[in-house]
Amino acid sequence: MPICSTNFAIVNGTVILPDTLIEDGMVVWSKNLITQVSKRKRVPRGSMIIDAQGGLIAPGFIDIHVHGGAGSDFMDATVADVLTVCRSHLNHGTTTVFPTTTTGTHQNLLQMIESCRLAKSEITRNPELGAAIAGIHLYGPFFAADKAGCHDRSECRTPETDDFASYFATKMIRVATCAAELPGAIDFYRLARRRRCLVTCGHSNSSWNEMQTAFNAGMRHVDHFWCAMSSVPSLRQRFGTPMQASMTEFVLMNADMSTEVIADGCHLAPELLEFAFRMKGPSRLCLVTDCNRALDMPPGDYIFGNRTTGTMFRSDGQVGWAGTGSLASAVMGMDHMVRHMKQTTSADLPAIFRMASLTPAERTGIHGIAGSLTPGKQADILILDQGLNIREVFAKGLSVVHH
Ligand SMILES: [Zn+2]
Ligand SMILES: [Zn+2]
Repeated sequence: MPICSTNFAIVNGTVILPDTLIEDGMVVWSKNLITQVSKRKRVPRGSMIIDAQGGLIAPGFIDIHVHGGAGSDFMDATVADVLTVCRSHLNHGTTTVFPTTTTGTHQNLLQMIESCRLAKSEITRNPELGAAIAGIHLYGPFFAADKAGCHDRSECRTPETDDFASYFATKMIRVATCAAELPGAIDFYRLARRRRCLVTCGHSNSSWNEMQTAFNAGMRHVDHFWCAMSSVPSLRQRFGTPMQASMTEFVLMNADMSTEVIADGCHLAPELLEFAFRMKGPSRLCLVTDCNRALDMPPGDYIFGNRTTGTMFRSDGQVGWAGTGSLASAVMGMDHMVRHMKQTTSADLPAIFRMASLTPAERTGIHGIAGSLTPGKQADILILDQGLNIREVFAKGLSVVHH
């Protein structure tokens, strides 16, 4: 039978809103926009009805920190590789991504940004191709070399205006990371704030005072909490005594600061996930995947970052390991992170989905169009079973994944 209706309604499921659940709820959309979210009622005439079969109806995930999937890394910097990554995360319920740079050469970064721009318009024309690209997360290369983690240390750079201004000039950067202690960091933050980015500090050994100066210049977020960041002991090594407060204390004490956790079960123990959730609350904590190219790939050796110039790591199927024995980012999609939060913390479903959708949308300023099941927003909708497994994904109103 040809589908001639432009109205769609999902019924027979629990609708997940940012602060509550609607049992036996209904979500209706017309073309690409949500028109109604309510208890089940008579559906508008001529609607095509989709049965959620007693499962959950939730907003599509938004990932502000993601490197790769299905064998490709955004830093491979071809349109085909970008589309491969975007499609792989769509399968895991992510409808919006911020492709995230690693350390790399100036040319590699510019090429990555350009291939994301081209892929973005292809995906806009055909949402089936992959998660929508809302903008780039300029992450590497402005890291402190002693906190480079699995990134190529020799490619860490100090921020110089001639260098970073060319990335912002592309108008593609929406999230911007720089280590606060680097000379030039303040100029970086100021420009990022002028460009209306979420301004973040990561891969950094900065002190409370450096964080305060960064905050005054617009910095409001810290990448992957507890990973590659300063602590009181790490600052004692840097400055001696008296011991100084670190990024950790700055984020926990300051209500305007947000952060993110990698909730794959390998990076952080359950009590740290619970601690971050309780201390920051769901409106200041994002779930991110920090996923690399080994998503949905067999265990084995892979490259983090650009395929020819990146660094080697090993995936055991659960997480990535650098040769040094330290972690080298995650290999799981957002659906896994959401299940893990449900299994191991006290966060309820509205809070968990808020952290995977509305909070990253708010922090990056795209909450007017995405991040929750709200009339007027894009119909980026998930149907999940009671075990939080993805059953169907709608992107801009189109069914793009059906498991
Ligand atoms: Zn990192
Ligand atoms: Zn990362």
